[in-house]
Amino acid sequence: MQHINKIRLTIYTLCSLLVLSSTAQSFLPPAIEWHGKSESLIAKPGNLWITTAEKSNFVTTPDYNETMNWFKKLAAASPLLTMVSIGKSVEGRDIYMIIASTEKNVTAASLKKSGKPLMLAQAGIHSGEIDGKDAGMMLLRDIAFGDKKSLLNKVNFLFIPILSVDAHERSSPYNRPNQRGPQNMGWRTNAQNLNLNRDYAKLDTKEIRSVIKVINEYDPVLYMDIHVTDGADYQYDITFGGIGQQGYSHGIRNWLETTYKNFTDKDLTTNGHLPGPLLNAFNNQDFSQGNIVTTGGPRFSDSYGDLRHLAAILVENHSLKPYKQRVLGTYVLLESTLKLLATAGQSLKEITDKDKSVRVTKIPMAWKVPQMKNSVSFDTRSNQQNADATITAPDSLHLSAIASFIHKSSVTNSDYVEWLGKPVTMKIADYKSSEPFDFITRPKGYWVPASCDEVIARLKMHGIKMNIITQPREVTVEMYRIKEYTFGDDNNKLQPFEGHMQVSGTTKSETRNQLFPAGSVYISTDQALGDLAMLLLEPTSKDSWFSWGFFLSIFQRTEYIEAYVMEPMAKKMLEDSPELKKEFEQKKKQDNAFANDPNAILTWFYSKTKYYDDRYLLYPVGRTL
Ligand SMILES: [Zn+2]
Repeated sequence: MQHINKIRLTIYTLCSLLVLSSTAQSFLPPAIEWHGKSESLIAKPGNLWITTAEKSNFVTTPDYNETMNWFKKLAAASPLLTMVSIGKSVEGRDIYMIIASTEKNVTAASLKKSGKPLMLAQAGIHSGEIDGKDAGMMLLRDIAFGDKKSLLNKVNFLFIPILSVDAHERSSPYNRPNQRGPQNMGWRTNAQNLNLNRDYAKLDTKEIRSVIKVINEYDPVLYMDIHVTDGADYQYDITFGGIGQQGYSHGIRNWLETTYKNFTDKDLTTNGHLPGPLLNAFNNQDFSQGNIVTTGGPRFSDSYGDLRHLAAILVENHSLKPYKQRVLGTYVLLESTLKLLATAGQSLKEITDKDKSVRVTKIPMAWKVPQMKNSVSFDTRSNQQNADATITAPDSLHLSAIASFIHKSSVTNSDYVEWLGKPVTMKIADYKSSEPFDFITRPKGYWVPASCDEVIARLKMHGIKMNIITQPREVTVEMYRIKEYTFGDDNNKLQPFEGHMQVSGTTKSETRNQLFPAGSVYISTDQALGDLAMLLLEPTSKDSWFSWGFFLSIFQRTEYIEAYVMEPMAKKMLEDSPELKKEFEQKKKQDNAFANDPNAILTWFYSKTKYYDDRYLLYPVGRTL
């Protein structure tokens, strides 16, 4: 009986799986057939190192164990490859990195000593977007045993095949309904349900901490983060770029937009791919109202790279293109980037060093995001840092688009887009959040008290240099008192975001002689990571630890005074100060609720005494001007 039930259940499950899986694919917009020169990169049957993706004609992708076992064998067989663990996930999986180099006995130090430009690429930060893993397997195989060894003549290469290792194993055909393959895809967030591409500033996760450690130890000249899109349909199969016209690294930005783009676009085109700029439909549906590129802030890999003066490239393969086409495009981009660094890596290094030496006096905490009235709100990069943004005159863009049609929905009674699969060209508006705001004058440095041990630990993880004091020290500093404040996420909803209750507030500066106990740290902003330190420590920055809710305890007043003490004290205060009496009478007249609230009245008097907690709402980090 039990057995029969089991069979029935299996048949039922199989049927429902078939129905669901055919449903998801059948609802995707039409695929456009593709063939390109890069297909010649696919290993022939019988090749000893053929990958699972190649063997299956890019229908499947290997799981964590199969991937890592394959890399272990490959690295053991080739003197050019070394496989190292850069950290462990919360579920105990090693996060592996492959080092490809002609150097002997590779370490971070020996790679630096070689003087060769170093490229770091990572796949699977969102583990369902795994194109980079299969592309990297093919490329490293070809470097080790194919005809691509010469790529390492002038460049060293670090490759992380799967960053979000736990989520990669939460694999299913139902994880990414907008994506055309592979068959099973990993999950977007890690085992703690945290989005790794929102963690670059705050550093909650072991995965991103591991990557930052690699960046600090190995010092790559270029960092590539490989994703797959969601959203609109268009002809481009691979879109990528730096953070655009805005940012903190002007030299690097220009290099990415000219030298890098021109070189890699040519290679991709030659190989049958269609590279394009990063694209987000402004109205979240189609491109009739233009494209929008926003500056997301250092929670994102590309903005974080820009802020710490590291050439960072966000790759977004187009989710509606077949998996084979996407993997091959990624291979070409990886190879093209290595080729470019062989000739232009040194000049990129010089440009980077120059950006690292700039000390801008006033640093913007954010960029205005052009807002559209009545836009459909999905999870996009644009729904943070809204401020009072205005739409500035946009540039225009010739878009290799896909025709679309707006339907009236019988389900929601609203509009929705249908993509028709027909290539068209459109000239569209191209909006950018290029207007900076909330400028903060660069202080000489910051004092972080020993009590903020978690923040100090994370500042160290970023590689920010600091002096730790071993004796208590009294210092004259500027400190912020938090004034108007609200709790809630970027959309002002009172709900947690990425495991945090966020807070935003206005500040008022005050000068104080503050005693910093032993173990407190001083952070000079006269360092390459000075801009990063500012965006992490200024409370109005959206990616500061203050905004992420690391200082919620300052919102609580813990000492108090009894009414039998405060009553006679208040009476005496009124007798002694006619000005106070006048102020009190006025406040009662203006504020009826206050006038009828004995507690509020006594608290008001209490706040004017020396007994009141002078650290209430005081942000504990000091600024030396
Ligand atoms: Zn992604």
